[in-house]
Amino acid sequence: MAFFDKVSRKISDFADDTSDKVKEFGKTNKLKTSISEEERKLEVAYIEIGKDYFEKNQNQEETAYVAAFAQIRESKAKILEMQAELDKIKEDTKDKISKRREDAQKAEEEPVSSPVGLPCPSCGFRSALNSRFCSECGKPLSA
Ligand SMILES: [Zn+2]
Repeated sequence: MAFFDKVSRKISDFADDTSDKVKEFGKTNKLKTSISEEERKLEVAYIEIGKDYFEKNQNQEETAYVAAFAQIRESKAKILEMQAELDKIKEDTKDKISKRREDAQKAEEEPVSSPVGLPCPSCGFRSALNSRFCSECGKPLSA
């Protein structure tokens, strides 16, 4: 049965292909992740070297990294400026809050005059809010 032999070989080949592909995918994924990890470590190491180099050579007139040095100085200056701005905003907010608290405390200490209602229709006197009768002439007040 040459035909069936051929077919079954093809199916098993396909299965092998698939499992090879799966294995390959697993291995390559693992390797790619490992490569990324090592690349990150490299970057950290490079940054460390770069920082160290800048610290040691920042006052030198001649350097192979003129543009990079200029960029570092510019960015550092900008960061300082923005940091100062941040500090100022924080300080202003603190001032505002403490002033508001002081005002609130003062308002609490000040004697509050009790609210008054509408003037009496008869004599015009303003009795305390929600009074049922005028405290001046005694006439009933409409609510
Ligand atoms: Zn009245």
